Amino acid sequence: MRAFRLHGPLDLRPTEDPFPGPPAAGEALVRIEAVGVCGSDLHMYETGGIGGRTVDRPFRLSHEFAGTIVATGPVAGTENGMPLKPGQRVAVEPAVPCGRCENCREGNPNLCPHHQFFGVPPDDGALCEQLLVPAKNCFVLPDNLSPETGAMLEPLGVAIHAVDLAKLRPGNSVAIFGAGPIGLLILSVARLAGAFPLHVFDPIKERRAKALELGATAAWDVAPTDAATLQPLLETTDGRGVDVVLEAADAGRSIDLSFAAVRPGGRVVLVGIPPHGESQFNHANPRRKGLTVRFSRRMKHTYPRAIALYAHPMMKGAIDGLVTHRLPLSDTARAFDLVHHYREGVLKAIISLS
Ligand SMILES: [Zn+2]
Ligand SMILES: [Zn+2]
Repeated sequence: MRAFRLHGPLDLRPTEDPFPGPPAAGEALVRIEAVGVCGSDLHMYETGGIGGRTVDRPFRLSHEFAGTIVATGPVAGTENGMPLKPGQRVAVEPAVPCGRCENCREGNPNLCPHHQFFGVPPDDGALCEQLLVPAKNCFVLPDNLSPETGAMLEPLGVAIHAVDLAKLRPGNSVAIFGAGPIGLLILSVARLAGAFPLHVFDPIKERRAKALELGATAAWDVAPTDAATLQPLLETTDGRGVDVVLEAADAGRSIDLSFAAVRPGGRVVLVGIPPHGESQFNHANPRRKGLTVRFSRRMKHTYPRAIALYAHPMMKGAIDGLVTHRLPLSDTARAFDLVHHYREGVLKAIISLS
């Protein structure tokens, strides 16, 4: 089958992979129809690894995907025990937790140390025509959700989980650092959760414009110094800062900015991933403020909520509006190059195989 593999930094090549075998018990064979290019895929594309893990063989990326069931093995049902049938369109949750460890049993499968994840080494991802997946990872798409939207449920799930961790209350003021797809989805979910006002920071003008279009109260540029960047926010809050900050940038300077933008006793949720796995930040500021800082790890069981949210007119508009580019599988290298260089006002590029 047609596929793409990463051979090293910035080196994506088309390959011919063997078709997967027939599904075993509890498995489904999915024909991939849409694949999203994610910021974490970009980390691997740019550096050849992620979070200290390196790619030591030609590796198949991508974990944001949806498609159609081709075949199912015996006892292949959804998590609710509904049998899966060939022809059904599904989005596939990429994380496969063990289901038995203490984290899984405590209801935190996103923290399972034994989990597999499609598209993160050593588990090949979805940049190919067909993939075998656990049936319980499949979420049947209602008729109003295209495979492309199905692929968007993964980044939407990341945003939902981040907002869950932020424990937002109606009327909480919020700042979001980073207006890429994740930051913009966080903006929409936070808005729906009642956050107001909503301040967004991003150095790219088009992304600030998009944030305003999606209901941000204000969208600020990132100035050369932290003080200059935060001055307008601190002015509008009489120096107090916001109740909650969600960081969805590169987890570099944005961490210090987050600590400086939040009020004493406030909450900060760190969603961004630093390119080389390490971040540095000032310790005194968050300590003196007594901040609650949460690290966000993927998501847990957000697909049903993500599917439900697509029926909300505001969320539908936000999700549809993020897909700026659609390319065929043969243009995969170009899709990654586009996102890598932030070319052509790209937000989300979808590789379409249908
Ligand atoms: Zn993703
Ligand atoms: Zn586990």
